[in-house]
Amino acid sequence: MPATVLKGISVVNAMKGALAARAAGLAASGAPPRLAIVRVGDRPDDEAYARGAIKRCESFGIECGLHTFDANVDNGDFLAEFARINGDGSVHGILVMSPLPAGIDGAAVKALIDPQKDVDCMSTANAAKIFAGDMSGHAPCTPAAVIEILKFYDIPISGSRVTLVGRSLVVGRPLAMLLLAEHATLTVCHTRTRDLAAECARADILIAAAGKAKMIGGECVKPGAAVIDVGINVTESGALCGDVDYESASAVAGSITPAPGGVGAVTTAMLARNVINACEALRGLAG
Ligand code: NDP
Repeated sequence: MPATVLKGISVVNAMKGALAARAAGLAASGAPPRLAIVRVGDRPDDEAYARGAIKRCESFGIECGLHTFDANVDNGDFLAEFARINGDGSVHGILVMSPLPAGIDGAAVKALIDPQKDVDCMSTANAAKIFAGDMSGHAPCTPAAVIEILKFYDIPISGSRVTLVGRSLVVGRPLAMLLLAEHATLTVCHTRTRDLAAECARADILIAAAGKAKMIGGECVKPGAAVIDVGINVTESGALCGDVDYESASAVAGSITPAPGGVGAVTTAMLARNVINACEALRGLAG
């Protein structure tokens, strides 16, 4: 039987009505939710992500402002401008494209950003909450998107054997915490993992977040498993692909996300949800 394709857009469409209604309500009672995207330098993947985020957020009724800085901007000048954006009462959410160039004091940005506006969980305060199992802050968008996809498609997490490939601070580690909060039985793999294929092949849910094009093939997939591909890689020909070799993996998996068209699409919807949550909280309207 062919694998079920876990399309991100179906998840987004299911979320859109309720979120757009909340954004419209906020607009009617004052001003629409507003997201500030901060980008330093001209990395093409930042540009693609910013474009996708703006398109998705605007389609939900969120206003977006893009603040771009030269890669060689003076650190002090940047931090002063960042503090101004952070203090702007009309801004409810801030997304900082990462990694920031070496000349920018990333630790200062993390310390400066208002946790209430920190819609992708870069501040130490929000990250600490995730690691403490406290879901009252903003969950990071990509890890939250993975959980949302699994829940939308009724893939049971509780008790399931989950193998996660990747332990980065932005994706792997916070995702591990969200999976544990959902009671997964979790194995986290990385470059020192001894037998990656065997660790992957015993998983009911296999999640690839390694940033290596097509590194997970069908031989790493347990028959019938759910495969979630977080990776976004650019091939030599300039095409986008995930960390999973879709063709061979989908022949074995029970269900699989396409890449692109899977996790990335839902990530921007999670961003929109966090901005709306932030706007409501800042206006004292959160339930
Ligand atoms: P990083 O490079 O920061 O981390 C990669 C992780 O994968 C590391 O923990 C690394 O191990 C591990 N890894 C790399 N190669 C191997 C290997 N051969 N075997 C086992 N483990 C390996 O990447 P990110 O976490 O930032 O991103 C991961 C992927 O997700 C990228 O493709 C990125 O583009 C994508 N991404 C997608 C998003 C979306 O919305 N869909 C958003 C953000 C990222 P070690 O720790 O030992 O080095």
